[in-house]
Amino acid sequence: MDKKKKSALHVNKGVEHPPSVNENSIHRFKKIKRKKYTLDEYVEGILNSSRVILSKAITLVESNLPQDIELSQQIIEKCLPHTGKSMRIGITGVPGVGKSTFIETLGMQLTAEGHKLAVLAIDPSSAKSGGSILGDKTRMEQLSGNPAAFIRPSASGGSLGGVANKTRESMLLCEAAGFDVIFIETVGVGQSEVAVHSMVDFFLLLMLAGAGDELQGMKRGIMEMADALVINKADGSNKEKAQHAQAQYASALHLFPMPASEYPVKVQTCSAYTGDGIQDVWQNIQAYFKKVTQTGYLEYRRRKQAKNWMHQLVKTGLIEHFYENSEIKQQLLVFEKNVLEGNANPYKAAYELLEKYFSKK
Ligand code: GDP
Repeated sequence: MDKKKKSALHVNKGVEHPPSVNENSIHRFKKIKRKKYTLDEYVEGILNSSRVILSKAITLVESNLPQDIELSQQIIEKCLPHTGKSMRIGITGVPGVGKSTFIETLGMQLTAEGHKLAVLAIDPSSAKSGGSILGDKTRMEQLSGNPAAFIRPSASGGSLGGVANKTRESMLLCEAAGFDVIFIETVGVGQSEVAVHSMVDFFLLLMLAGAGDELQGMKRGIMEMADALVINKADGSNKEKAQHAQAQYASALHLFPMPASEYPVKVQTCSAYTGDGIQDVWQNIQAYFKKVTQTGYLEYRRRKQAKNWMHQLVKTGLIEHFYENSEIKQQLLVFEKNVLEGNANPYKAAYELLEKYFSKK
């Protein structure tokens, strides 16, 4: 027998079959998917409030590919003159406190009043693992289907700083697209609050009555950053407990210095579930904005944030440049191994790496 025919790898000549998919429609699909927008198309689309283009621009901002980074920087640059007109509001609280429900309830009210709302998220877990504590925001079911709202889950991967950079840039694009209220949501577990605080005008801390302070973890540090405290789930049999907690927190706050905004930190209760108290929370936020706009504190806070932002960008840029250096890339593993095995001390290793970097730059 012919050797070729005996081989299991031999493929018999087949009979041609008609394609099982419609080639024309696939072609069309590919074309749509591959459509690459030019810089001007992106900018024009964003300024015309195209949600499709805004989404694509945010995807570009979230990308780590060098060509995407360059284009997204150009887009941001062109959009910058159209930013700054929104109320930037940070919302934090431990998982389960009711952030999504709160955003959904308040968000529906705001859009009914004619506001355009964008919801972004910084999720420290997504920075580390690509997974997310905040979960996908399809939980905000009504808001997701609301044409006046734009919901974007957290960028994932990279460092928390990197993820926060991307959220800040996404926020600027949303502003350029005409969203006048921006919520930036984060989980109350530490570092990410600092990142959110560094990019918002108002920082709201959602809390629960009865959960021990140790459960609410963070407390003091985050309480110091908060412009308002809101005790959620003040409904049913929990209402009284919430009011009690409100009084306790209010007296604890007396020990804190007056915030730089000179707008006293209020403690309120609400039920994101029934909607009770939500309007009061919003009125307080509006009163804050009115005051800080009049006193100039809003402008001052944003300029200070911009200054810090500049430093942040310089740091991120330097770090990226360092780790992308080919010599460093080659040697890093050896240095790491030596330090890990106790054969080199970290100071000397770091200085040697830096010396290599600066001499080869
Ligand atoms: P998140 O993890 O902070 O985003 O919290 P969620 O919004 O997902 O809410 C966690 C759970 O608490 C859900 O089962 C909500 O239905 C519930 N919940 C949220 N707000 C309230 C509230 O005001 N009252 C009550 N009773 N339950 C609430």
